[in-house]
Amino acid sequence: MSYAVRGITKDGAFRIFAAETKDLVEEARKRHRTMPTATAALGRALTAAALLGLDLKTGRVMIQINGGGPLGEILAEADAEGNVRGLVQRPHVHLTPQKGKLLVGQAVGRDGFISVTRDLGLKEPYQGSAKLISGEIAEDVSYYLTVSEQIPSAVALGVFVDTDNTVQAAGGFLIQTLPQATDEAISTTEKVLRELPPVTTLLREGLSPEEILERIFGKDQIEILEKRPLTYRCRCSRERVERALVALGPEEVKNLIAKAEPAKITCDFCGEEYVFTPEELEKLLAEVEVKSRKELDA
Ligand SMILES: [Zn+2]
Repeated sequence: MSYAVRGITKDGAFRIFAAETKDLVEEARKRHRTMPTATAALGRALTAAALLGLDLKTGRVMIQINGGGPLGEILAEADAEGNVRGLVQRPHVHLTPQKGKLLVGQAVGRDGFISVTRDLGLKEPYQGSAKLISGEIAEDVSYYLTVSEQIPSAVALGVFVDTDNTVQAAGGFLIQTLPQATDEAISTTEKVLRELPPVTTLLREGLSPEEILERIFGKDQIEILEKRPLTYRCRCSRERVERALVALGPEEVKNLIAKAEPAKITCDFCGEEYVFTPEELEKLLAEVEVKSRKELDA
């Protein structure tokens, strides 16, 4: 079971977050049938969303990455309950790995932006964005947080895909410097992070999220404040799909009915298929027409 932890260093210098996301990313791989490069890119984005989601008491956070590379757009979303979902526009993209490394940066591209939206259920969601600097996702999230949200942040994300294309390890961490951090604490941590093995190496050695944070800051130096299970779960439902159909307007629904066969609508986030018979579409059409008459009257 994937999970994430949120805490603080006992010296009050850093807020710390870490996640183990193997099951979560494997579920995403199966649902989207991603090839390894796409699996790694989507998995890193999902892990980043899960880490940012740890800060939420309510609502959700969405990361959108579009670097102009062959993978196209990547979306990843996490809510306050640890439900995570995402998609990659072209899931079958795979570039030949070099020196055993998946070429995520090249597949994502860096000619574009990362944007982060926090919807806390208030009137307006909060949105910020930054230019992509590498397409490797961890560097881009850390640059976004540091520059756009002005919270100095270090982010590591990793997905290790096995030879049979399944996910063998996935996870990451996020470290944010608090205003009271001393220069010494900051430079010590920077040095540790420079010398730290890749996060996938630590996960494959069997380290838990808590143990990764202990490895960075020392065993008795951290306090875990919350542990949250992570699940790949979509918010789609038949009612939402019906609302989306109604929103298309009467012409589109009539076109579907004219085909005289069941209409299949697939959720982009989870692959769930919703089927509507022509009779059900007729009923929806009646609703659409009532709705548009009301709009005309208004
Ligand atoms: Zn769905």
